[in-house]
Amino acid sequence: MRPIPKCFTLLLLLLTVLSHNSRSQTNDLYSYQELSHLYYQKQKDSLKKEWTCPARYKDKTVQKKYKEIWDERTSFFLDAIEDDDYVHDKELYDYLGGIANEIAKANKSYMPVQPMLFIDRSPSVNAYAIGNNVVAINLGLLVFARSREEIALTLAHEMSHNILEHAENSMRKRAEWLTSDEYKQSLEDVLDSRYERLTRLKKIFENYSFDRSKHQRYRESDADSMAIILLKNAHLAFDPAFFLRLDSADMVYHEPLKQPIKNYFSPYSVTIDDAWLKKRSKGLSTKSYNFQESVALQDSMKTHPDCIVRYNNTKAAATTGQQLTPVPERIREKAGKMMIWNMYCNMHLAPCLYRILLEKDRGSNDPWYDFMLHNIMLELFHADKELHRFAAIGVTQKEYISKNYYELQTMLEQIPREELEKSCKQFQNAAFWSNMSASEKDLKSLLNVLTIDAGTTGGAGVKAAKEFTSNNKSSLYCEFANDIEKK
Ligand SMILES: [Zn+2]
Repeated sequence: MRPIPKCFTLLLLLLTVLSHNSRSQTNDLYSYQELSHLYYQKQKDSLKKEWTCPARYKDKTVQKKYKEIWDERTSFFLDAIEDDDYVHDKELYDYLGGIANEIAKANKSYMPVQPMLFIDRSPSVNAYAIGNNVVAINLGLLVFARSREEIALTLAHEMSHNILEHAENSMRKRAEWLTSDEYKQSLEDVLDSRYERLTRLKKIFENYSFDRSKHQRYRESDADSMAIILLKNAHLAFDPAFFLRLDSADMVYHEPLKQPIKNYFSPYSVTIDDAWLKKRSKGLSTKSYNFQESVALQDSMKTHPDCIVRYNNTKAAATTGQQLTPVPERIREKAGKMMIWNMYCNMHLAPCLYRILLEKDRGSNDPWYDFMLHNIMLELFHADKELHRFAAIGVTQKEYISKNYYELQTMLEQIPREELEKSCKQFQNAAFWSNMSASEKDLKSLLNVLTIDAGTTGGAGVKAAKEFTSNNKSSLYCEFANDIEKK
């Protein structure tokens, strides 16, 4: 291969720098191959072999139950990898890995082996320890965190769960309880009684969960204390105020918008009728729906015990006089984009759209957000055509959202189909497209086939989706196209 002349490289570099600001920065986002079902394929196989249940009990019944619970956890984790719950974006991974290494290196006596770190794509502000040296941190937490120290505290807390073998202990406790005479007796009593079996059965499990949550509370404060030790050893500042901030973690959709809804749509010449923002009748959304996910095994950084207790318990250990290092804006923004894309693929269109409007409020001119706004409106139209518009919106209960969010959600529900189609056409002709990459334009064509292109059947959509994936093999947008293909 002929070497590229130096001046040419410089020119290329200059061009890249010049075009960097006005162009969408999607090229920096992860590739399709970095989604967990592909990226961790090899690890998945080796984990299956490595995670064999240790022999802990002489009693065969208890050991059998223990193995059952153990294997349940393994398959939970392997399924999550297969479902692309995780992503290995190099930039985010290096940033988080740098912090994790700093903690691990200074605490070799507690952590002889480096922990395995996973980036979970969930928007909820959380992190969790799976045991067996595995720690996962959610994109939601990365977006929420303000400083490197807050992330360090989160990682140290999760590492502490692993050091203190909390996952192992709770699996053992469960196995022992489910094979105990006490449990068997209560179960037999229930089966013997003719009446109220269900109520009594419920009671047993209530006792069980009460017992568990009580232990869990102890475990959380143990993990906090251990985390403080790990951070001190690594000379990382500990700021207990993070616990107080975590208390407001669920309030992100309470943040009001800076402008009326229609202003966000006017740059695309899309007119929003005020009437769409107001509920006409008691629609489906008056039912209590909640998009907040409940992930099994997910350790909560915020619930047990509550944040104020955690703050009070740890405030004496606060590091004084040390400046906190802000999370680089690039990292926050990238994690935010990855999260928005994930919410889009999971068809949570309303929260996804709200996040975009919040980015616009922060002053972002990145056309990638325009592109995503386009995708949301076209997908809403597509869902409407397939008669599942309501499900695609991902309606949230009133108490979790701001007035603006409620209006936006109502608008997505009520915008008449013909008006939605009109706005989709406006989005497809908007000016920002000149700044978009080939894969983004290809996704535009795919959405066009799925929606506006008159007279198309399901078959045409699948064909277009296949075409997209074969032309854009490494694009993260393949995830969306794959879902269409599977239909
Ligand atoms: Zn915890």
